[in-house]
Amino acid sequence: MKLLITGGAGFIGSAVVRQAIAAGHAVVNLDALTYAACLDNVASVADHPEYAFEHADIRDRAALDRIFARHAPDAVMHLAAESHVDRSIDGPGAFVETNVTGTYTLLEAARGYWTEAGRPAHFRFHHISTDEVFGSLGPEGRFTEDTPYDPRSPYSASKAASDHLVRAWFHTYGLPVVLSNCSNNYGPHHFPEKLIPVIILGALAGRPLPIYGDGSNVRDWLYVEDHAEALLLVLSRGAPGESYNIGGENERSNLELVRTLCAILDAKRPKPSGSYADQITFVADRPGHDARYAIDPARIARELGWRPSVTLDEGLERTVQWYLDNEAWWRALQSRQGVGTRLGVGAVS
Ligand code: NAD
Repeated sequence: MKLLITGGAGFIGSAVVRQAIAAGHAVVNLDALTYAACLDNVASVADHPEYAFEHADIRDRAALDRIFARHAPDAVMHLAAESHVDRSIDGPGAFVETNVTGTYTLLEAARGYWTEAGRPAHFRFHHISTDEVFGSLGPEGRFTEDTPYDPRSPYSASKAASDHLVRAWFHTYGLPVVLSNCSNNYGPHHFPEKLIPVIILGALAGRPLPIYGDGSNVRDWLYVEDHAEALLLVLSRGAPGESYNIGGENERSNLELVRTLCAILDAKRPKPSGSYADQITFVADRPGHDARYAIDPARIARELGWRPSVTLDEGLERTVQWYLDNEAWWRALQSRQGVGTRLGVGAVS
């Protein structure tokens, strides 16, 4: 298949691009190259004959029309988004612009292209979303595909809005869409402002390791390569109009997660004295901080046969090693304007 992948220079999108090329697909990577993008993430496939890059914004309808006409994709995998919850609290406008208006514009461009092509049944518009649209859980229960939406941050509200638009384009216009909602991803190439890199890099630099509130907030973690594999499966085998929850069944409180990272670092790069955990410090909680997210991935396991292959301990170990081995990558991103100032804030997801 020829896949038009939006946001392919970001964290998850680049993993999808690399796996799609490895699986024999042709890929057009469409990305606006915002502060969160890094083309180095796809350097390993940049010279592949079946890879093309389009520098474009998903809000730019004319550019999208040209790209659809030029490449005639069989499917769209839509990952481009503003993705950082803390940034959405400081400046929600960009999230509405990209995640809502951008998704709307991409849907309309895809619908125009699909209609002109005679509404081919094999065409797919795969919208990639988050479990945060379901809101916050208490100590019990997990999100299923039928859990009512209850987004609570500007980020999750904008993603929820985009999910609704995508479903509406299926019911109203018949556009063959599939959706997936995933828990927190982690792994190599994770942008330095997100929790796990903040902790690894802060620990190495001797900075305080900021944890929101008392660290009891629980997240479910999934290794990014497992997510990318699940996404390609949902694209090829998911039923039109349906959504699939993707999760790692790896629930950890933020404090447990940070302690695990410190223990891995203690073993790999011991401090002259003490533990990296001594640097843990608790900071004022994020407003509207959801207590717990947990995904029930039974449907994707049952219907598509997908299960994560990397355990959390193994994935964290690999991730820490990747940051130790790729200092030039994260130093270049840290030096970008506006990023360094966030490193002490305690960004979680
Ligand atoms: P990211 O911030 O690392 O990457 C986003 C990419 O989108 C960047 O390359 C950026 O340049 C691009 N982009 C942003 N605005 C754009 C625009 N207007 N036009 C074109 N490109 C634009 O994000 P990520 O963590 O890789 O997340 C990818 C997708 O997966 C998002 O839709 C996010 O909501 C979803 N998701 C993320 C997680 C997670 O844990 N990171 C979990 C579940 C779902």
